[in-house]
Amino acid sequence: MPQIFDVLVIGGGAAGLLCAIEAGKRGRRVAVLEHADRIGKKILISGGGRCNFTNVHCQPQNFLSANPHFAKSALARYTPVDFLALVQKHRIPYHEKTLGQLFCDNSAADITNMLEAECRAAHVKIILSAKITEVSRDTQFVVRTDSAEYRAPALVVATGGLSIPKLGATSFGYDLARQFGLKIITSRPGLVPLVLAPPDRKRYSELAGVSTEVIAQAAHTPFREKMLFTHRGLSGPAILQISSYWQEGEPIHIDLAPGRDATAPIRQATTRNLAAAEKAFQQFLPKRLADTWLHHNAPRSWTNPALAALEEKVHAWSLTPAGTEGFEKAEVTVGGVDTNELSSKTMESRKVPGLFFIGEVVDVTGHIGGFNFQWAWSSAAAAGRSV
Ligand SMILES: Cc1cc2nc3c(=O)[nH]c(=O)nc-3n(C[C@H](O)[C@H](O)[C@H](O)COP(=O)(O)OP(=O)(O)OC[C@H]3O[C@@H](n4cnc5c(N)ncnc54)[C@H](O)[C@@H]3O)c2cc1C
Repeated sequence: MPQIFDVLVIGGGAAGLLCAIEAGKRGRRVAVLEHADRIGKKILISGGGRCNFTNVHCQPQNFLSANPHFAKSALARYTPVDFLALVQKHRIPYHEKTLGQLFCDNSAADITNMLEAECRAAHVKIILSAKITEVSRDTQFVVRTDSAEYRAPALVVATGGLSIPKLGATSFGYDLARQFGLKIITSRPGLVPLVLAPPDRKRYSELAGVSTEVIAQAAHTPFREKMLFTHRGLSGPAILQISSYWQEGEPIHIDLAPGRDATAPIRQATTRNLAAAEKAFQQFLPKRLADTWLHHNAPRSWTNPALAALEEKVHAWSLTPAGTEGFEKAEVTVGGVDTNELSSKTMESRKVPGLFFIGEVVDVTGHIGGFNFQWAWSSAAAAGRSV
């Protein structure tokens, strides 16, 4: 006997749960089908276990998409203030970190518990360990699992992206979109550490653990934040941010001395030499980084033109990464269901009425800092208020 609902949501992560809540509050009979043995696994590990659940300065400019205008409507209609109201209603203690990022004081489990409680209140049925074997559409959508059949006139796909496969990430959402004839923007890892090419790795891997504030830039998009050297390359917020913009084979540029006249002390030194340069660079870089970087980049002479070239280089250090650390280490997936296929007001497919895509499976990717969850909440609310 098929189980009949008004709305089937595939994926019990951030977006799927909030959509189910919004639809349930409107009296819809909603089932969430989650293939893992618990909901919200990614929420639980997010923000270092404290879940950076939104950002109070959320703007459309904080998102990447082939259509940069697509996210505007949903973001305007379900804002950080709306999600914060839910957090406050549940008396979850939180704090603001730098740059408007809101984190739980205690644990990310506060957020999953809140979503679970809201689901209960809205009479949402959560079905765990649901192994979906087939999705089809006759007069309604039909979802078969290895043990049951579910039917509903509305199907919401909230299966997330490809990052962190060991937490249950699958290509299910993209495959389903293709099955129904929707286009996909090629996906790639985002918010991910970059791996240096072997010669650079040899030069700089000894700096693993060293970090400094930089302006990192890829595809003309700069971010001023910390950069961290790793054994295989570069990481830290500045690098994670530009990784979402970086295209294979392209260089990245790093300003190691933002806003500084780095070589002024060398020009003024009584003796211009490597020791004077190291002393000057140690004023704004950790000693190990200053010395290693100069070892590989110092000019052959210390003339004014040579120092001008050094000044230029320290503000636009150019490296061509060999690649990224891949989906295993990526926080998000860039690309996904082409936004041209969806209504920006409801997230419903233009071609297939009743079929919705929300959250990370859509080609909308946030910067680091709580923006990816805000997209999950906003897109979920757009669909949940429409199904
Ligand atoms: C380590 C890490 C830390 C992060 N920290 C932050 C942070 O602090 N702030 C922030 O804004 N963003 C953060 N992110 C990004 C954020 O977690 C995601 O953008 C967000 O979870 C996307 O929500 P979603 O509901 O679209 O997808 P998900 O949360 O990934 O949920 C998708 C759900 O669908 C289920 N699913 C997948 N395939 C199937 C299938 N075939 N059948 C049934 N169910 C399926 C999955 O098990 C999962 O429960 C972090 C990501 C990672 C990896």
